[in-house]
Order: sequence, then C-alpha cells, then structure tokens
Amino acid sequence: MSRGRLHVVCGPMFAGKTSAVLRLLRTAQAAGRRTLAVKPARDVRYADRELVTHVGDRLPALPVARIDEVLPYATDLVAIDEIHFFASEAVPPIDALLARGTDVIVAGCDIDHFGDVFSPFDALLPRADAVTRIAGTCARCGAPSTHSERLVASTDRIIVGGIGDFVATCAACFRPSARVSR
Ligand SMILES: [Zn+2]
Repeated sequence: MSRGRLHVVCGPMFAGKTSAVLRLLRTAQAAGRRTLAVKPARDVRYADRELVTHVGDRLPALPVARIDEVLPYATDLVAIDEIHFFASEAVPPIDALLARGTDVIVAGCDIDHFGDVFSPFDALLPRADAVTRIAGTCARCGAPSTHSERLVASTDRIIVGGIGDFVATCAACFRPSARVSR
C-alpha cells in the first residue's frame, strides 16, 4: 500500500482556511472518495457536528477530543480543522493514518498569538507533501495577513475565539500577547 499524502493548510484567522478545506473535501467526494471531516470537540463556536466557515458554509464533521479517535474509521481522506488545538499529540495518529495509506488534510493557525510557531506545525510542515499557506487581509494596514493577534490579554496558548477576540494582521502590524514571567 502506498503512503497517504499530507496536505497542510495554514494561515492566520479569518483567512479562509476552513473554506479551503471544504473545497478540497467536496472535490474528493465528487471523485468518489470516502472522506471524514474532523474538528476539535472543544470548538463549538458555530455548531457541534459541522465544519462551519466564518461566512456560514458548512459540512458535517466528527468532533473529537483526540485525533486517535479517528483511527477506527475506514476512509480514504481525513480532514482535520483547527489542528493547533491538538498540539503535538496530533502527530503520532496522523503518522499512523498516513502509514496505512489514508490521505490527511490538516488546517489551522501556524503562528500563535505570541508570534511563535504553533505546534504541531513545527512537526507537520516538514512532513507535508503539499502546503497551502493562505493570507487574509491585515486589519490595520490592508497588507496580506500572516498573524492572529489576541485583542483581549490571555496567557493561554490555545483559545477558542472568533470575531471580536482576534484580529488578523501582517507581521509589521502584529502586537504579540505579553508573556507572564514566572
Ligand atoms: Zn499590517
């Protein structure tokens, strides 16, 4: 059996990553492939059992607390949205899916609100067969956006947020969250 392909979709918030995933899933479904869309169980911003874009496009999705919950499903393609919620724990089950020939799409923010690489992208980008890095529009200057800035201070790395909690900015306009020194 040939190894599955890993396609990484990354970029800041509000750039259209989920829309890109829905497009890839629908293309695969139209080609007769079995697909499984997955989302973090803790991300219930818009719907429990669907991937939903900020503009309201939607597709059924399995909410999981851990990526290895996906392993029992027989499918040709697994698409995991908001992969940064799973951090480095996502990597072994993704490797297991690829090893058994399942294609995997992951999407999420590759830079956190401190301005650092957001795990598990440090591990997944070198493994990727394809990378789609999407830019939106900087909320301050209109240049292409690369960063997600937290508007309300938080020291948590992983935050379920939406419009009002974050803005997407370019690197020049980005104001990183302050780190708490201990
Ligand atoms: Zn800017």
